[in-house]
Amino acid sequence: MAGTGVFAEILDRDVYKYYADGEWKNSSSAKTVAIINPTSRKTQYRVQACTQEEVNKVMDSAKTAQKLWTKTPLWKRAELLHKAAAILKEHKAPIAECLVKEIAKPVKDAVTEVVRSGDLVSYTAEEGVRILGEGKFLISDSFPGNERTKYCLTSKIPLGVILAIPPFNYPVNLAVSKIAPALIAGNSLVLKPPTQGAVSALHMVHCFHLAGFPKGLISCVTGKGSEIGDFLTMHPGVNCISFTGGDTGIAISKKAGMIPLQMELGGKDACIVLEDADINLVAANIIKGGFSYSGQRCTAVKVVLVMESIADALVEKVNAEIAKLKVGPPEDDCDITPVVSETSANFIEGLVKDAKEKGATFCQEYNRDGNLIWPLLLDNVRPDMRIAWEEPFGPVLPVIRINTIEEGIHHCNASNFGLQGCVFTKDINKAILISDAMETGTVQINSAPARGPDHFPFQGLKDSGIGSQGVANSIKMMTKIKSTVINLPTPSYTMGNGGHSKL
Ligand code: NAP
Repeated sequence: MAGTGVFAEILDRDVYKYYADGEWKNSSSAKTVAIINPTSRKTQYRVQACTQEEVNKVMDSAKTAQKLWTKTPLWKRAELLHKAAAILKEHKAPIAECLVKEIAKPVKDAVTEVVRSGDLVSYTAEEGVRILGEGKFLISDSFPGNERTKYCLTSKIPLGVILAIPPFNYPVNLAVSKIAPALIAGNSLVLKPPTQGAVSALHMVHCFHLAGFPKGLISCVTGKGSEIGDFLTMHPGVNCISFTGGDTGIAISKKAGMIPLQMELGGKDACIVLEDADINLVAANIIKGGFSYSGQRCTAVKVVLVMESIADALVEKVNAEIAKLKVGPPEDDCDITPVVSETSANFIEGLVKDAKEKGATFCQEYNRDGNLIWPLLLDNVRPDMRIAWEEPFGPVLPVIRINTIEEGIHHCNASNFGLQGCVFTKDINKAILISDAMETGTVQINSAPARGPDHFPFQGLKDSGIGSQGVANSIKMMTKIKSTVINLPTPSYTMGNGGHSKL
């Protein structure tokens, strides 16, 4: 159970502690932040509201710990990560329980998130050993005007202190996708978990603690992003920010100093459906892509752009599948569970009302109870409706009927977002041409958008992000190239020195 057994030390009465200097601590603020259970809408957990002074201390110990960690052999860093991954998987049940209670993730998906996170940590350890175990060797005479007098050796060095800020929807997975690459590359890491999801993240951090990482190397400071966020992101001790979330990331990018940024932000992933598509396959992917975790996924299908000639058939099929979705609490492993907060539910409702006023066709009746919103397909959506462009982050999916492929591509590219997109057709040539024309970081052919597998590159264009994630890209992003150039007094040619006449 959460907060018991090996996790007992992270809890003080009913408040979870924060993690600094290898210890679990209460904040001197004596203030706490309540985490509301999205299903019961009552306080489920409490976490510490850390102070700026505590953040300063964490940054200092992160800097000191990093200097020692960078001297720890690569194989040993990998060994510790493998150990943390095993402990994480061993304790999947209590961590999944927190995910169910604080973000209303269905039980099965919650367990999957923890197991997937363990796999991600192990994979990163292995990939890191290879990527960081290799450097480059360059010779000067390949560039015009140079003789063979310079040998350049390059290797990857850590950046220092990495600040990781994940969002509520994958508070464990999107935290470890930042923690593991940072650590294998020799950095230290400060985690600011999302408030909804903080307790799951604290349990995950304890698994790293149990694995025996040096004190100060990993820290976890809790508190509302709106209160300590700016202090953290503008802290002079931070050498890199890896952020996943919404528009907050745009504001952070404008304020952050001259440090590398990895920003994975929102999306409005379009699903373009051509006349020759396999309707059953499309419908299955729209259900999985649009309604899994109640649509609260960055890569959820967020707008369907279907050719008019097959639109009726597709809408009918999708409606039949929607009718089969189980709606209810996450504890019962329902398909559609309450969205994360009342604010979020109100926002979704605003988009639905706007669509109603502007004449969208409601395929189901709009139904809401507290934070629980029943799945809804909106047909005949037009570009003047907010839902055509905005990310609902809920189980409401708009369908826009198109008459040409160009119309679909145009809608996709007119969006501020450019995370992923997908196209369904049996014609691979058309699929490639459409993929090339879509201004998104990834295009899936004949499948719904998805972030995994976690070693695939994952990136957003435009307002969807900066940089690229995926295991290898994150490791590289959290390092810098260091060169050492050996300058020879005379040109030197392997096996061609003519008997070393000049030596
Ligand atoms: P969010 O509101 O932007 O919050 C993300 C994180 O930022 C949370 O940890 C939040 O902490 C923190 N935060 C808030 N204000 C801050 C500030 N001023 N400075 C620093 N940090 C601050 O996003 P969300 O609602 O958790 O997640 C949903 C969004 O994430 C959606 O837009 C979704 O598309 C996007 N997302 C993107 C990806 C991707 O890889 N592209 C993946 C998943 C989700 P608090 O919780 O304490 O406010």
